[in-house]
Amino acid sequence: MKGLKIYNTLSGSKESFEPIHKDMVGMYVCGPTLYSEPHMGNMRTFINFDLVYRYLLHIGYNVKYVRNITDAGHITNSAGQQEDSIGKAARLEALQPLEIVYKYNVRFQNLQKTYNLLPPTIEPTATGHIQEQIEIIEKIIQNGFAYEVNGSVYFDVQSYKKSHDYGALSGRKVDELENETRELNAQGEKRFFADFALWKKANENDMQIWRSPWGNGNPGWHIECTAMSTKYLGETFDIHGGGLDLKFPHHEDEIAQSCGSTGKAPAKFWMHANMLNVNGKKMSKSLGNFFLPQEIVEGTTELFDKAYTPNVLRFFMMQSHYRSTLDLTQEALNASEKGFARLTEAIETLDEITASETGSIDAEVHVREFYHAMNDDFNAPILIAALFDTVKKINLIRDGKETITVKDKELLLSEMKGFVLNVLGLTLESGQNDNRLKPVMDLVLELRQQARSNKDWGTSDLIRDGLKNAGITVKDGKDSTTWQ
Ligand code: AMP
Ligand code: ZN
Repeated sequence: MKGLKIYNTLSGSKESFEPIHKDMVGMYVCGPTLYSEPHMGNMRTFINFDLVYRYLLHIGYNVKYVRNITDAGHITNSAGQQEDSIGKAARLEALQPLEIVYKYNVRFQNLQKTYNLLPPTIEPTATGHIQEQIEIIEKIIQNGFAYEVNGSVYFDVQSYKKSHDYGALSGRKVDELENETRELNAQGEKRFFADFALWKKANENDMQIWRSPWGNGNPGWHIECTAMSTKYLGETFDIHGGGLDLKFPHHEDEIAQSCGSTGKAPAKFWMHANMLNVNGKKMSKSLGNFFLPQEIVEGTTELFDKAYTPNVLRFFMMQSHYRSTLDLTQEALNASEKGFARLTEAIETLDEITASETGSIDAEVHVREFYHAMNDDFNAPILIAALFDTVKKINLIRDGKETITVKDKELLLSEMKGFVLNVLGLTLESGQNDNRLKPVMDLVLELRQQARSNKDWGTSDLIRDGLKNAGITVKDGKDSTTWQ
């Protein structure tokens, strides 16, 4: 069922989505800079684009999904010092930069499995595409939109501005930017404050250095995405995505680099996923208000007194639209835990329901709502609301107040499973949500609690160790005991 509309940041409106090549979609998403462990905020962006990828596949597109790994050249501005974040981590951990990237990439790949993200078609790295980056920089220089100074190359925003709209994506006006950025970018080499580095001359602290026509150095932050998106998806492709915080300057500069080298805009649709907040503030490394995804699953964060399964976290994320901010609170997670259980239980109920000759439920009406929600700019919260409307009906059938035919039951079951499992990326795993195990676990934990009250440590340890051997971890919180 086609008819998808996507909000395009470029136009500021929802547009009908038609791929450039029939039934084939090319999508590029800016991936992580692997100088540390990705936090839950980073994961929200990747989970949101996983939803996009899954829905495009679900409605029958053949999707090439490219998500890069930044393993060089990402400059952070810490305490007024411009420093390569991977180089800095390498220095602090006394490792080589690519050892740092490898270490965190192993964790990132594990997290993707934990949170049930589909692997992209390819995850190319910046360091694997230095030559491609150099070639694009050469073209930009030839076209008169970049200049070399003292072994570094800068994009020439003033020259570009004469024939292009720099700021078209972010809506920023260069002249207004001047005051904000003047101090940060007070490097004498640039002709204009808004010019940005395409290639940086090596300095003595750099741990990753490559040869180039301009001498030894390393690429600027934005050029890798231009090189890798062009290489794998072509000069113009369908969708470019990333977190909202990348809209400016990163994505604005990607557009300038593509237009400045090929004369073509890189992507037809620009999609931006909004931030995960904690108490109203963006979760970020620098603010120190971040949670690691593993901590939430293991229940080791100070803010939450219990653990949550990856399914519950994913469901929680899906309950807000990707363009809205989302606040991570225990209350919201508890609500998601209940909601997720209700939804998966209803699917099991539907499976077990006896169908009848005639039915009062029209499955197609429900299914249409599912597609309607997702076709409207991947509106997962509306999809979930539609799923819960269906859950109500399923429970009425179970209670004998409504009826369903075999045909409608089959359609509803396969579409509900399709949306819950394939589109939302949730799993019907056993555990917290296994309604057969729960009463047994309640009983076992009750017995353990009695043993503890009687100071019968032998029995309480026997129960805990026995559960552990069965793959069930018990965690004692302030007010309650949870298990996974
Ligand atoms: P970085 O590794 O810092 O380049 O970030 C990787 C991705 O995570 C980017 O697409 C960012 O936009 C995104 N990101 C960073 N912080 C958050 C947050 N708090 N919520 C959602 N996405 C985020
Ligand atoms: Zn990028």
